[in-house]
Amino acid sequence: MMKHVIGAVCIKCGAEHEANDHTYTCTKCGGILDIQYDYTYIKSQLNREKLISRNDDSMWRYRELLPIEEGSRLTPLRVGWSPLYRAEKLGEWLGLRNLYIKDDGLNPTGSLKDRASAIAVVRAHHAGMRTVACSSTGNAASSLAGNAAAMGLESFIFVPERAPKGKVAQLMIFGAHVISVKGTYEDTFRLSAEAIEKWGWYNRNAAINPYLSEGKKTVSLEIAEQLDFKAPDYVAVSVGDGCTIAGVWKGFKDLYALGFIDTLPRLISVQAEGCCPINRAIETNRPLERMEENTLADSIAVGVPRNGEKALRAIRESQGITVVVSDDEILAAMRLLGATSGVFGEPAGVTGTAGVKKAAEQGLIPEDAVVVSLVTGNGLKDVVSAQRIAGEPRYVSPDMGIADTAF
Ligand SMILES: *Cc1c(COP(=O)(O)O)cnc(C)c1O
Ligand SMILES: [Zn+2]
Repeated sequence: MMKHVIGAVCIKCGAEHEANDHTYTCTKCGGILDIQYDYTYIKSQLNREKLISRNDDSMWRYRELLPIEEGSRLTPLRVGWSPLYRAEKLGEWLGLRNLYIKDDGLNPTGSLKDRASAIAVVRAHHAGMRTVACSSTGNAASSLAGNAAAMGLESFIFVPERAPKGKVAQLMIFGAHVISVKGTYEDTFRLSAEAIEKWGWYNRNAAINPYLSEGKKTVSLEIAEQLDFKAPDYVAVSVGDGCTIAGVWKGFKDLYALGFIDTLPRLISVQAEGCCPINRAIETNRPLERMEENTLADSIAVGVPRNGEKALRAIRESQGITVVVSDDEILAAMRLLGATSGVFGEPAGVTGTAGVKKAAEQGLIPEDAVVVSLVTGNGLKDVVSAQRIAGEPRYVSPDMGIADTAF
């Protein structure tokens, strides 16, 4: 029983369902479900002052707004409450006076996905399940494996063969059963779905499990709290499956419904030029169409977005902006962010920042707007990409004779 949760409503046909761990998609039309809350009840339990005084530096400080059953054991890993940095120097570069970086690469396994996986393992544990599973380009997998390990659960992970080595190593270290699929992300997803169905594992595929964007929404709850309960004007998010941007929007809408913030931000949906089906659907006002997966930003190389409809709805409702960036622009943003802020993001992690740079250059963002750029994953996960832009150090012999030439 969750007193604060009303149910799960289909975002396509509006059919209402009970919120449980058996129904992940609409029983009438197969659409994606969205968890609905009783805001009147939540208001009676929580207010801004209570939140601010809370001594919990993790996403669980928002438990009244999360689909967690009463009496659940929470993960011991410290997920969430990542820093929101004022990025003055980067802002100067981009002509933005109020630019912030939310560094979610600092989560326990190095990406924003920890927020979703934390919910998954808590729900799985509460439901008495022993095994969790997912398919992923990497971060969903490593975060599930890490959070499962911390919770004492087994994990089965399906990754496409091209997933970066660092990410696969992480999985192995967390003791996951790793299945590397010779095929695309789509093939990987399908195979995992069949295996999950066959063996009855807990399904952490962000596309269809409606609880996961609820975990991801905590990033917005934090941003609002870190800005003293003022919503920013813009939030830039890199988009693959679309679960993250949908969660970001949900978090702000929750706070708005509770009266904790008075305005809502506009979303900046950033995708890679070589794989941008969601932005293309917005720009052409047409249904989603499959695209190739041509980008080095592997975490957002999703040709058939599994959560596309939720993402489209979020971007449209927020009167959002779409920006596509090239791989070169992503790498340039990686170096610019690192050199101006000391924050090292993986390619998909800095794609939002690349989008802010481009949108600012195109005059799409007013210079005094409050802009938050979400850094979604840590650069150490994919040093091969970083090395492409980082360049080489100076190689010298170990004596001060080099001083004339090297400095
Ligand atoms: C998964 C991921 C994203 C995009 O999230 P979606 O829910 O797939 O849209 C962005 N950046 C990083 C680092 C990710 O791992
Ligand atoms: Zn439906």
